[in-house]
Amino acid sequence: MIRRIINRLLGNDAKQKGKPRPGKRQANGEPVILGRSAHGIRRDAINDCALKTCESLADAGFKAFVVGGAVRDLMLGKKPKDFDVATDATPEEVRRLFRRSRIIGRRFRIVHVMCGRDTIEVTTFRAAGNLGGEEEDERPTDETGRILEDNIFGSQSEDAARRDFTVNALYYDPLREEIWDYHGGAEDCRKKILRMIGDPATRFREDPVRMLRAARFAAKLDFHIDPDTRKPVAELAPLLGNVPRARIFDEAVKLLMSGHALRGVHQLRAEGLHHGMLPLLDTILDDPQGKRFIEAGLKNTDQRIHEDKPASPAFLFASLLWPQVQRRWKAIEGAGEKPIPALFAAMDEVLDAQREQLAIPRRFDGMIKEVWALQPRFDYRSGVRPFRLLEHPRFRAGYDFLLIRVESGEVPEELGDWWTDFQDADDESRKAMLLAESGPKPKRRRRRRKSAGPDSAASTPADEFPAS
Ligand code: ATP
Ligand code: MG
Repeated sequence: MIRRIINRLLGNDAKQKGKPRPGKRQANGEPVILGRSAHGIRRDAINDCALKTCESLADAGFKAFVVGGAVRDLMLGKKPKDFDVATDATPEEVRRLFRRSRIIGRRFRIVHVMCGRDTIEVTTFRAAGNLGGEEEDERPTDETGRILEDNIFGSQSEDAARRDFTVNALYYDPLREEIWDYHGGAEDCRKKILRMIGDPATRFREDPVRMLRAARFAAKLDFHIDPDTRKPVAELAPLLGNVPRARIFDEAVKLLMSGHALRGVHQLRAEGLHHGMLPLLDTILDDPQGKRFIEAGLKNTDQRIHEDKPASPAFLFASLLWPQVQRRWKAIEGAGEKPIPALFAAMDEVLDAQREQLAIPRRFDGMIKEVWALQPRFDYRSGVRPFRLLEHPRFRAGYDFLLIRVESGEVPEELGDWWTDFQDADDESRKAMLLAESGPKPKRRRRRRKSAGPDSAASTPADEFPAS
């Protein structure tokens, strides 16, 4: 390692010969190189697995840089979510170097290198597209210009040019402790500007998800979107309709779980992008109670993420869809259905309707429905029911959801407080807290209906909730 560093510093490293000198802006296609004092990133801020990966690649004679969000976040003094490495080694060459590694992806082939519990994504430098210029782009596209496959390898400067935003095209060499900056990303980090590399309209057509990424990064980093980058978005937003729904869903989860979901959702709406990602926002945010509820839900998730508490996407989607469930619930009940069957019908309707656009995977349905189905049970505070509810495996999620309903003003604060106290109390105090039985007594349990389905809360027999 020490010999390698000395060799490199003396310029004896063939692969690195002819590289630009630090601190000078280089001619076309060449990076500006920032030394340690200019970028301020300490090597020990880099994850061990990423460091080892870079070292092994360099030992084998390849270039290797930490790249993308990790460098950007470290420049901004934030903790990176994950570490990506870029190299001139092909996926096969990388695969051969690391025993614990595998090649993944088809549209974009990369290698996952594993050390302990960490996984580093290693990407081979890709050739740039035409970036709106005259040259031919050889990558296959669909009829709207969306790139279907991006596996043509290229030089490092080409790789920098095919990245999305300037702040995402910074390359950190952990051995030399240098940042190679091809597109002025370091300055944009300082100015807090999100700027597309190349011609924004072309780049958005190549991959419309970049529009969602722009909204996500602007919210997460608290950056301004550069006016030229923003301009084509309004016109091109409908192209999101051509993107596979699973990719849109992944991006929605990234935005909602970024710790800046509230700002992200407002950013999406401001850019007119929510039609392609969370179309439900339009109707809900126009309704004051719906808006209060969604904002309380998003704030709650943001806070949990900042406190490193577990946060589940299913819970979040349950919050986002709840105002619609309530609306349908009331309508179906108004049409003469009993409350609980009406709630269950509304739940199914709302989940089915969102599948057309957002495609929440079905594996989330169980948890989402359970959280919703538990809500009416919090109204019962007498007899044995509160004790039974406490034992429900999803009690905690149901209770957290109840608190969001309290926060949004949907149910009285006193109800949330009662459940908070009831959980913490000992058995005697719990009994003393029970309210006097009011309304009709629960009917005797009928046998479970066969069609009720397998999960416990969602299949709660209707007589648990007498129509009162
Ligand atoms: P995060 O903090 O969310 O991980 P990130 O910038 O690391 O942010 P990733 O999705 O992990 O985002 O991608 C890593 C890098 O790959 C990006 O920084 C960017 O350089 C490049 N990249 C990812 N997606 C795209 C895209 N759709 N178009 C162009 N470049 C992309
Ligand atoms: Mg990343």
